[in-house]
Amino acid sequence: MRGTGLDAIAWRIRAASDVFLFTHEFADGDALGSVVALTLYLQAMGKTVHAFVPGQIQSVYRFLATDELLNTMPAVQAAAHIGTAHVTCLSADAADVDRLGEWKSLFLSGAEHLVIDHHETNAGFGEVFAIDGSASSCCEVLFDLFNLIDPQLIDARIASALYTGLVADTGSFQYANTRALSLVHGAQLVELGASPDEISRCIYESKPYGSVWLMAASVAASRLMYGGQVVVSYVTRTMLEDSGALDEDTEGITDELRRIAGTKAVVLFKEASDGSVKVSFRGKYGFDVKRIATAFGGGGHVLAAGCTITSDLGEAEVRILAELDRYLGPSRT
Ligand code: AMP
Ligand code: MN
Ligand code: MN
Repeated sequence: MRGTGLDAIAWRIRAASDVFLFTHEFADGDALGSVVALTLYLQAMGKTVHAFVPGQIQSVYRFLATDELLNTMPAVQAAAHIGTAHVTCLSADAADVDRLGEWKSLFLSGAEHLVIDHHETNAGFGEVFAIDGSASSCCEVLFDLFNLIDPQLIDARIASALYTGLVADTGSFQYANTRALSLVHGAQLVELGASPDEISRCIYESKPYGSVWLMAASVAASRLMYGGQVVVSYVTRTMLEDSGALDEDTEGITDELRRIAGTKAVVLFKEASDGSVKVSFRGKYGFDVKRIATAFGGGGHVLAAGCTITSDLGEAEVRILAELDRYLGPSRT
């Protein structure tokens, strides 16, 4: 654990009355599980809570009551409120402040800034921060925090939200970030009321048809490079339009590509609506993709990282492949 620690976070939370919650853009299961669990838990503590999630929320996570619980306060009202009241801003699962997207300036306007995360690349951008790089997910860190503050307040809905984050970030307890404690925490959350089969069905078997179609198109567009060590693929604006999928429906494509035997790394280039390119990296067998993402101002973990490049897709690919050459040699075939 790096930073001022969970005790310091717990003290600030106990003293707070008005809390704004934040997480990273293209919010995944851990990001959404974190803000939903925090919203419910802080409400149970009697706090006034508002969560600000950038962009659109993936439809598969609606079962967490994201529509009712998140983005309930309009931006203008939030900006006015934070200017007059003492608002505690808390960021969860975001590796740096830029990842808060359109809500970055609202976060910075707060009276105090707390940061809870599990990304090694997080430098700790609040006055009070707890970064546990050994935790599989931010939800695991939050489970520790909730147990520290008051375990009695963890009801079945909160347990389900936390379990969702654990399942999403560990790929259902399959990835290298699954430590023994992740399974212990998972078991405890099931005891508290999380339903593994219901949550898996919601996350993995409730995708919009267009999203599955897009995955097929992206698999078809993939190329094996560096002697089969790297699989590269794309999600272009045209592919999104043809499939009817939304920008937030691309989760799962990297999981599909990483199934290929012999691959050490997955690189997925996604054309964003603002003209930039979001690159997702996944590593296998310890291949460190974080070093590649951080070379382009991104971050993440050794085996799962990402960055955003402001250029067209062709140039983004040229730049990333030049970086890969440094580790895998110049032979790209
Ligand atoms: P993704 O490929 O979007 O699922 O992201 C993989 C991991 O890298 C996640 O842990 C993200 O939080 C992290 N990540 C993705 N993009 C960035 C970025 N631009 N800056 C820092 N971390 C990132
Ligand atoms: Mn995340
Ligand atoms: Mn996470």
